[in-house]
Amino acid sequence: MRIGVPKEIAANERRVALTPDIAGRLVKGGFEVVIERGAGTAAFFPDEAYSAAGVKLGDRSSVISQSDIVLQVQAPSGDLTQYREGAALVAFFQPAADLLRQLAQRRLTAFTLVLLPRITRAQPMDVLSSQATVAGYKAVLLAASASGRLFPMLVTAAGTLPAARVLVLGAGVAGLQAIATARRLGAIVSAFDVRPAVKEQVQSLGALFLEMAIEEHAETAGGYAKELSEETHRKELAFLAGAAKDADIVISTAAIPGKKAPILITAAAVQGMKPGAVIVDLAAETGGNCELTEPGSEIVRNGVSILGPLNLASTLPRDASQMYAKNVSAFLGHIVQDGKLRLDFEDQIIRDTCVTHAGEVRKS
Ligand code: NAD
Repeated sequence: MRIGVPKEIAANERRVALTPDIAGRLVKGGFEVVIERGAGTAAFFPDEAYSAAGVKLGDRSSVISQSDIVLQVQAPSGDLTQYREGAALVAFFQPAADLLRQLAQRRLTAFTLVLLPRITRAQPMDVLSSQATVAGYKAVLLAASASGRLFPMLVTAAGTLPAARVLVLGAGVAGLQAIATARRLGAIVSAFDVRPAVKEQVQSLGALFLEMAIEEHAETAGGYAKELSEETHRKELAFLAGAAKDADIVISTAAIPGKKAPILITAAAVQGMKPGAVIVDLAAETGGNCELTEPGSEIVRNGVSILGPLNLASTLPRDASQMYAKNVSAFLGHIVQDGKLRLDFEDQIIRDTCVTHAGEVRKS
Protein backbone atom coordinates (compact mmCIF):
# COMPACT_ATOMS: atom_id res chain seq x y z
CA MET A 1 0.00 0.00 0.00
CA ARG A 2 1.36 3.35 -1.04
CA ILE A 3 1.13 6.40 1.22
CA GLY A 4 1.70 9.88 -0.19
CA VAL A 5 2.54 13.05 1.70
CA PRO A 6 2.31 16.28 -0.32
CA LYS A 7 3.79 19.58 0.83
CA GLU A 8 1.26 21.78 2.61
CA ILE A 9 0.39 24.74 0.44
CA ALA A 10 -1.99 26.74 2.65
CA ALA A 11 -0.67 30.17 3.67
CA ASN A 12 1.28 30.09 6.94
CA GLU A 13 1.15 26.29 7.18
CA ARG A 14 4.57 24.97 8.12
CA ARG A 15 3.65 21.53 9.39
CA VAL A 16 4.07 18.27 7.50
CA ALA A 17 1.87 15.20 7.94
CA LEU A 18 4.72 12.69 8.44
CA THR A 19 8.14 13.22 9.99
CA PRO A 20 11.14 11.12 8.93
CA ASP A 21 11.14 8.84 11.96
CA ILE A 22 7.39 8.12 11.86
CA ALA A 23 7.50 7.67 8.06
CA GLY A 24 10.46 5.31 8.52
CA ARG A 25 8.45 3.22 10.98
CA LEU A 26 5.64 2.93 8.42
CA VAL A 27 8.19 1.80 5.81
CA LYS A 28 9.44 -0.85 8.25
CA GLY A 29 5.81 -1.83 8.78
CA GLY A 30 5.46 -2.68 5.09
CA PHE A 31 4.06 0.54 3.60
CA GLU A 32 5.61 2.27 0.63
CA VAL A 33 5.88 5.94 1.61
CA VAL A 34 6.50 8.73 -0.87
CA ILE A 35 6.82 12.39 0.07
CA GLU A 36 6.88 15.52 -2.06
CA ARG A 37 10.36 17.04 -2.25
CA GLY A 38 10.69 19.88 0.26
CA ALA A 39 7.50 18.89 2.15
CA GLY A 40 9.29 18.83 5.51
CA THR A 41 11.63 21.77 4.97
CA ALA A 42 9.51 24.41 6.76
CA ALA A 43 9.26 22.07 9.76
CA PHE A 44 13.05 21.53 9.75
CA PHE A 45 12.93 18.01 8.27
CA PRO A 46 15.18 17.94 5.19
CA ASP A 47 14.59 15.59 2.24
CA GLU A 48 17.75 13.64 3.13
CA ALA A 49 16.29 12.66 6.50
CA TYR A 50 13.29 11.10 4.73
CA SER A 51 15.53 9.31 2.22
CA ALA A 52 17.66 7.94 5.04
CA ALA A 53 14.49 6.53 6.61
CA GLY A 54 13.61 4.65 3.42
CA VAL A 55 11.01 7.15 2.19
CA LYS A 56 10.88 7.91 -1.56
CA LEU A 57 10.88 11.50 -2.78
CA GLY A 58 8.62 12.55 -5.64
CA ASP A 59 6.99 15.49 -7.34
CA ARG A 60 3.64 16.79 -6.18
CA SER A 61 1.48 15.33 -8.90
CA SER A 62 2.87 11.81 -8.63
CA VAL A 63 2.71 11.88 -4.81
CA ILE A 64 -0.97 12.82 -4.94
CA SER A 65 -2.11 10.85 -7.99
CA GLN A 66 -0.32 7.57 -7.35
CA SER A 67 -1.01 7.02 -3.67
CA ASP A 68 -3.63 4.78 -2.09
CA ILE A 69 -3.76 7.02 0.98
CA VAL A 70 -2.79 10.69 0.94
CA LEU A 71 -1.87 12.19 4.33
CA GLN A 72 -2.13 15.94 4.81
CA VAL A 73 -2.51 18.47 7.58
CA GLN A 74 -4.88 20.91 5.86
CA ALA A 75 -7.78 20.09 3.57
CA PRO A 76 -6.97 19.81 -0.12
CA SER A 77 -7.77 22.92 -2.08
CA GLY A 78 -8.26 23.67 -5.75
CA ASP A 79 -8.33 20.93 -8.31
CA LEU A 80 -9.17 17.56 -6.77
CA THR A 81 -8.76 15.71 -10.06
CA GLN A 82 -5.10 15.21 -9.09
CA TYR A 83 -6.31 12.69 -6.52
CA ARG A 84 -6.88 9.18 -7.80
CA GLU A 85 -10.57 8.24 -7.80
CA GLY A 86 -11.28 5.88 -4.93
CA ALA A 87 -8.13 6.84 -2.99
CA ALA A 88 -8.26 7.69 0.71
CA LEU A 89 -7.37 11.02 2.26
CA VAL A 90 -6.61 11.68 5.92
CA ALA A 91 -6.30 15.29 7.08
CA PHE A 92 -7.37 17.70 9.83
CA PHE A 93 -10.06 20.00 8.45
CA GLN A 94 -13.47 21.46 9.20
CA PRO A 95 -16.03 19.49 7.17
CA ALA A 96 -17.45 22.40 5.14
CA ALA A 97 -20.34 21.38 2.87
CA ASP A 98 -18.71 22.61 -0.36
CA LEU A 99 -15.51 20.72 0.25
CA LEU A 100 -17.35 17.54 1.17
CA ARG A 101 -19.32 17.73 -2.08
CA GLN A 102 -16.08 18.00 -4.07
CA LEU A 103 -14.42 15.14 -2.16
CA ALA A 104 -17.46 12.94 -2.80
CA GLN A 105 -17.55 13.90 -6.48
CA ARG A 106 -13.96 12.70 -6.77
CA ARG A 107 -15.04 9.49 -4.97
CA LEU A 108 -12.43 9.97 -2.29
CA THR A 109 -12.75 8.16 1.02
CA ALA A 110 -11.95 11.17 3.17
CA PHE A 111 -11.35 11.22 6.91
CA THR A 112 -11.05 14.35 9.02
CA LEU A 113 -9.37 14.04 12.41
CA VAL A 114 -11.30 17.10 13.57
CA LEU A 115 -14.21 14.69 14.11
CA LEU A 116 -12.24 12.04 16.00
CA PRO A 117 -14.26 10.97 19.06
CA ARG A 118 -12.56 11.90 22.37
CA ILE A 119 -12.71 8.34 23.66
CA THR A 120 -9.93 6.54 25.48
CA ARG A 121 -8.97 4.16 22.67
CA ALA A 122 -8.69 7.11 20.24
CA GLN A 123 -6.27 9.05 22.45
CA PRO A 124 -3.12 8.15 20.45
CA MET A 125 -4.84 9.62 17.35
CA ASP A 126 -6.11 12.76 19.06
CA VAL A 127 -4.85 15.59 16.87
CA LEU A 128 -7.17 18.11 18.54
CA SER A 129 -5.36 17.50 21.81
CA SER A 130 -1.82 17.38 20.46
CA GLN A 131 -2.18 20.60 18.48
CA ALA A 132 -4.06 22.35 21.31
CA THR A 133 -1.16 21.46 23.61
CA VAL A 134 1.25 23.21 21.27
CA ALA A 135 -1.06 26.23 20.91
CA GLY A 136 -1.57 26.57 24.68
CA TYR A 137 2.19 26.62 25.22
CA LYS A 138 2.85 29.11 22.43
CA ALA A 139 0.06 31.42 23.61
CA VAL A 140 1.97 32.04 26.83
CA LEU A 141 5.19 32.78 24.95
CA LEU A 142 3.32 35.29 22.76
CA ALA A 143 1.82 36.90 25.84
CA ALA A 144 5.19 37.08 27.57
CA SER A 145 6.79 38.73 24.61
CA ALA A 146 3.94 41.24 24.12
CA SER A 147 3.90 42.12 27.82
CA GLY A 148 6.06 44.84 29.33
CA ARG A 149 6.55 42.70 32.44
CA LEU A 150 8.70 39.82 33.59
CA PHE A 151 6.71 36.78 34.70
CA PRO A 152 8.59 35.65 37.85
CA MET A 153 8.94 37.54 41.09
CA LEU A 154 12.48 38.89 41.18
CA VAL A 155 14.35 40.25 44.16
CA THR A 156 17.32 42.20 42.82
CA ALA A 157 19.63 45.02 43.82
CA ALA A 158 17.52 47.16 41.50
CA GLY A 159 14.42 46.42 43.52
CA THR A 160 11.77 43.77 43.83
CA LEU A 161 9.44 42.91 40.95
CA PRO A 162 6.19 41.16 41.80
CA ALA A 163 5.21 38.10 39.75
CA ALA A 164 2.92 38.67 36.78
CA ARG A 165 -0.71 37.56 37.17
CA VAL A 166 -2.04 35.32 34.43
CA LEU A 167 -5.73 34.49 34.04
CA VAL A 168 -6.61 31.48 31.87
CA LEU A 169 -10.18 31.18 30.63
CA GLY A 170 -11.24 27.70 29.58
CA ALA A 171 -9.21 24.89 31.13
CA GLY A 172 -9.42 22.25 28.40
CA VAL A 173 -6.31 20.87 26.74
CA ALA A 174 -4.93 24.24 25.54
CA GLY A 175 -5.86 26.04 28.76
CA LEU A 176 -4.19 23.45 30.99
CA GLN A 177 -1.01 23.64 28.92
CA ALA A 178 -1.13 27.46 29.13
CA ILE A 179 -1.46 27.21 32.92
CA ALA A 180 1.50 24.83 33.16
CA THR A 181 3.65 27.02 30.89
CA ALA A 182 2.81 30.27 32.72
CA ARG A 183 3.58 28.56 36.04
CA ARG A 184 6.95 27.38 34.72
CA LEU A 185 7.74 30.98 33.82
CA GLY A 186 6.97 31.97 37.41
CA ALA A 187 3.61 33.71 37.07
CA ILE A 188 0.79 33.59 39.58
CA VAL A 189 -1.96 31.83 37.65
CA SER A 190 -5.70 31.62 38.11
CA ALA A 191 -8.18 29.91 35.83
CA PHE A 192 -11.87 29.62 35.17
CA ASP A 193 -14.01 27.08 33.36
CA VAL A 194 -17.70 26.29 33.37
CA ARG A 195 -16.98 22.59 33.82
CA PRO A 196 -16.45 21.99 37.55
CA ALA A 197 -14.59 18.76 36.74
CA VAL A 198 -11.48 20.73 35.78
CA LYS A 199 -11.06 22.34 39.21
CA GLU A 200 -8.74 19.61 40.48
CA GLN A 201 -6.69 19.60 37.27
CA VAL A 202 -6.20 23.37 37.55
CA GLN A 203 -5.21 23.10 41.20
CA SER A 204 -2.83 20.23 40.54
CA LEU A 205 -0.90 22.56 38.21
CA GLY A 206 -0.46 25.07 41.04
CA ALA A 207 -3.11 27.54 39.84
CA LEU A 208 -6.09 29.00 41.65
CA PHE A 209 -9.49 27.87 40.33
CA LEU A 210 -11.93 30.80 40.31
CA GLU A 211 -15.34 29.67 41.47
CA MET A 212 -18.63 31.12 40.35
CA ALA A 213 -21.93 29.54 41.33
CA ILE A 214 -23.37 28.03 38.13
CA GLU A 215 -26.82 26.61 38.72
CA GLU A 216 -27.12 24.78 35.40
CA HIS A 217 -25.28 21.68 34.26
CA ALA A 218 -22.69 23.06 31.85
CA GLU A 219 -21.14 19.81 30.62
CA THR A 220 -22.28 17.32 27.96
CA ALA A 221 -22.09 13.56 28.43
CA GLY A 222 -19.04 13.66 26.11
CA GLY A 223 -17.15 15.95 28.51
CA TYR A 224 -17.48 19.16 26.47
CA ALA A 225 -18.95 22.46 27.64
CA LYS A 226 -22.52 23.40 26.76
CA GLU A 227 -23.73 26.85 25.80
CA LEU A 228 -24.84 28.69 28.94
CA SER A 229 -28.29 30.21 29.37
CA GLU A 230 -28.44 33.96 28.76
CA GLU A 231 -28.77 34.70 32.45
CA THR A 232 -25.80 32.57 33.50
CA HIS A 233 -23.73 33.98 30.66
CA ARG A 234 -24.50 37.51 31.88
CA LYS A 235 -23.36 36.54 35.38
CA GLU A 236 -20.22 35.00 33.91
CA LEU A 237 -19.37 38.21 32.01
CA ALA A 238 -19.66 40.31 35.17
CA PHE A 239 -17.61 37.77 37.14
CA LEU A 240 -14.83 37.66 34.54
CA ALA A 241 -14.74 41.45 34.13
CA GLY A 242 -13.89 41.55 37.85
CA ALA A 243 -11.22 38.87 37.49
CA ALA A 244 -9.66 40.51 34.40
CA LYS A 245 -9.08 43.79 36.29
CA ASP A 246 -6.23 42.24 38.27
CA ALA A 247 -4.67 40.32 35.38
CA ASP A 248 -1.51 41.26 33.52
CA ILE A 249 -2.21 38.53 30.99
CA VAL A 250 -5.42 36.82 29.92
CA ILE A 251 -5.19 33.66 27.83
CA SER A 252 -8.61 32.66 26.60
CA THR A 253 -9.33 29.25 25.12
CA ALA A 254 -13.06 28.70 25.65
CA ALA A 255 -14.85 26.79 22.92
CA ILE A 256 -18.10 24.92 22.33
CA PRO A 257 -17.69 22.25 19.63
CA GLY A 258 -19.38 23.19 16.37
CA LYS A 259 -20.39 26.67 17.59
CA LYS A 260 -19.02 30.18 17.61
CA ALA A 261 -16.75 30.78 20.63
CA PRO A 262 -18.54 32.26 23.66
CA ILE A 263 -17.76 35.91 24.46
CA LEU A 264 -16.12 36.04 27.87
CA ILE A 265 -14.42 39.47 27.83
CA THR A 266 -16.57 42.37 26.68
CA ALA A 267 -15.29 45.71 25.36
CA ALA A 268 -16.30 47.20 28.73
CA ALA A 269 -14.23 44.58 30.56
CA VAL A 270 -11.21 45.52 28.42
CA GLN A 271 -11.74 49.15 29.51
CA GLY A 272 -11.42 48.01 33.12
CA MET A 273 -8.10 46.22 32.54
CA LYS A 274 -4.67 47.59 33.41
CA PRO A 275 -2.69 49.46 30.74
CA GLY A 276 -0.02 47.10 29.44
CA ALA A 277 -2.22 44.04 29.98
CA VAL A 278 -2.24 41.46 27.19
CA ILE A 279 -5.05 39.22 25.98
CA VAL A 280 -4.12 36.25 23.82
CA ASP A 281 -7.36 34.96 22.35
CA LEU A 282 -6.85 31.37 21.26
CA ALA A 283 -10.50 31.17 20.28
CA ALA A 284 -9.87 33.67 17.44
CA GLU A 285 -10.37 30.89 14.85
CA THR A 286 -14.02 30.61 15.87
CA GLY A 287 -14.67 34.32 16.40
CA GLY A 288 -12.82 34.93 19.67
CA ASN A 289 -13.62 35.05 23.39
CA CYS A 290 -12.96 38.78 23.55
CA GLU A 291 -15.49 41.06 21.92
CA LEU A 292 -12.70 43.19 20.43
CA THR A 293 -10.54 40.40 18.99
CA GLU A 294 -9.68 40.72 15.33
CA PRO A 295 -8.79 37.20 14.17
CA GLY A 296 -5.29 37.08 12.71
CA SER A 297 -4.36 40.55 14.04
CA GLU A 298 -2.90 42.27 17.05
CA ILE A 299 -4.64 45.44 18.21
CA VAL A 300 -4.31 47.79 21.19
CA ARG A 301 -7.36 49.23 22.99
CA ASN A 302 -6.99 51.47 26.05
CA GLY A 303 -3.41 50.26 26.41
CA VAL A 304 -4.48 46.59 26.36
CA SER A 305 -2.94 44.45 23.60
CA ILE A 306 -5.38 41.96 22.12
CA LEU A 307 -3.83 39.19 20.03
CA GLY A 308 -5.99 36.91 17.91
CA PRO A 309 -3.49 34.43 16.50
CA LEU A 310 -4.57 31.82 13.94
CA ASN A 311 -3.07 28.37 13.47
CA LEU A 312 -0.64 28.77 16.36
CA ALA A 313 0.42 25.12 16.26
CA SER A 314 2.01 25.74 12.88
CA THR A 315 4.37 28.30 14.44
CA LEU A 316 6.14 25.45 16.29
CA PRO A 317 6.21 23.23 13.22
CA ARG A 318 8.81 20.72 14.29
CA ASP A 319 7.13 19.40 17.40
CA ALA A 320 3.61 20.05 16.13
CA SER A 321 4.44 17.87 13.08
CA GLN A 322 6.06 15.25 15.27
CA MET A 323 2.87 14.93 17.33
CA TYR A 324 0.63 15.13 14.26
CA ALA A 325 2.60 12.39 12.51
CA LYS A 326 2.36 10.16 15.58
CA ASN A 327 -1.42 10.71 15.75
CA VAL A 328 -1.88 10.11 12.03
CA SER A 329 0.17 6.93 12.02
CA ALA A 330 -1.90 5.60 14.94
CA PHE A 331 -5.01 6.41 12.86
CA LEU A 332 -3.52 4.59 9.87
CA GLY A 333 -2.90 1.59 12.08
CA HIS A 334 -6.60 1.65 12.87
CA ILE A 335 -8.02 2.02 9.36
CA VAL A 336 -5.60 -0.28 7.52
CA GLN A 337 -5.58 -4.02 8.08
CA ASP A 338 -3.52 -6.54 6.11
CA GLY A 339 -2.59 -3.87 3.57
CA LYS A 340 -6.22 -2.88 2.90
CA LEU A 341 -8.48 -0.08 4.01
CA ARG A 342 -10.79 -1.40 6.73
CA LEU A 343 -14.08 0.46 6.47
CA ASP A 344 -16.04 -0.90 9.38
CA PHE A 345 -18.69 1.75 9.92
CA GLU A 346 -19.78 -0.03 13.12
CA ASP A 347 -16.53 1.27 14.58
CA GLN A 348 -17.06 4.72 16.16
CA ILE A 349 -13.66 6.06 15.17
CA ILE A 350 -14.21 5.20 11.50
CA ARG A 351 -17.89 6.18 11.50
CA ASP A 352 -17.26 9.61 13.05
CA THR A 353 -14.23 10.60 11.01
CA CYS A 354 -15.14 9.32 7.53
CA VAL A 355 -16.88 12.22 5.80
CA THR A 356 -17.10 10.93 2.21
CA HIS A 357 -17.03 7.46 0.71
CA ALA A 358 -18.04 5.86 -2.60
CA GLY A 359 -19.32 9.15 -4.01
CA GLU A 360 -21.50 9.91 -0.95
CA VAL A 361 -21.23 12.67 1.63
CA ARG A 362 -21.58 10.84 4.94
CA LYS A 363 -21.74 13.89 7.23
CA SER A 364 -23.61 17.15 6.90
P1 NAD B 1 -12.62 22.78 23.94
O1 NAD B 1 -11.53 23.25 23.06
O2 NAD B 1 -13.92 22.35 23.34
O3 NAD B 1 -12.95 23.94 24.99
C1 NAD B 1 -11.95 24.53 25.78
C2 NAD B 1 -12.48 24.78 27.18
O4 NAD B 1 -13.39 25.87 27.16
C3 NAD B 1 -13.23 23.60 27.78
O5 NAD B 1 -12.58 23.21 28.98
C4 NAD B 1 -14.61 24.17 28.05
O6 NAD B 1 -15.22 23.65 29.22
C5 NAD B 1 -14.33 25.65 28.18
N1 NAD B 1 -15.49 26.54 28.02
C6 NAD B 1 -16.49 26.47 27.11
N2 NAD B 1 -17.38 27.47 27.32
C7 NAD B 1 -16.92 28.20 28.36
C8 NAD B 1 -17.38 29.35 29.03
N3 NAD B 1 -18.53 29.96 28.69
N4 NAD B 1 -16.65 29.83 30.06
C9 NAD B 1 -15.50 29.22 30.44
N5 NAD B 1 -15.01 28.13 29.84
C10 NAD B 1 -15.71 27.61 28.82
O7 NAD B 1 -12.14 21.64 24.92
P2 NAD B 1 -10.95 20.59 24.75
O8 NAD B 1 -9.70 21.19 25.22
O9 NAD B 1 -11.00 20.05 23.38
O10 NAD B 1 -11.38 19.47 25.79
C11 NAD B 1 -12.74 19.14 26.02
C12 NAD B 1 -12.88 17.94 26.89
O11 NAD B 1 -12.45 16.76 26.23
C13 NAD B 1 -12.09 17.98 28.16
O12 NAD B 1 -12.90 17.46 29.18
C14 NAD B 1 -10.96 17.05 27.95
O13 NAD B 1 -10.45 16.51 29.14
C15 NAD B 1 -11.69 16.02 27.14
N6 NAD B 1 -10.76 15.15 26.41
C16 NAD B 1 -10.95 13.80 26.53
C17 NAD B 1 -10.09 12.93 25.88
C18 NAD B 1 -10.28 11.45 26.02
O14 NAD B 1 -9.71 10.70 25.33
N7 NAD B 1 -11.10 10.97 26.90
C19 NAD B 1 -9.08 13.43 25.08
C20 NAD B 1 -8.94 14.80 24.98
C21 NAD B 1 -9.79 15.66 25.65
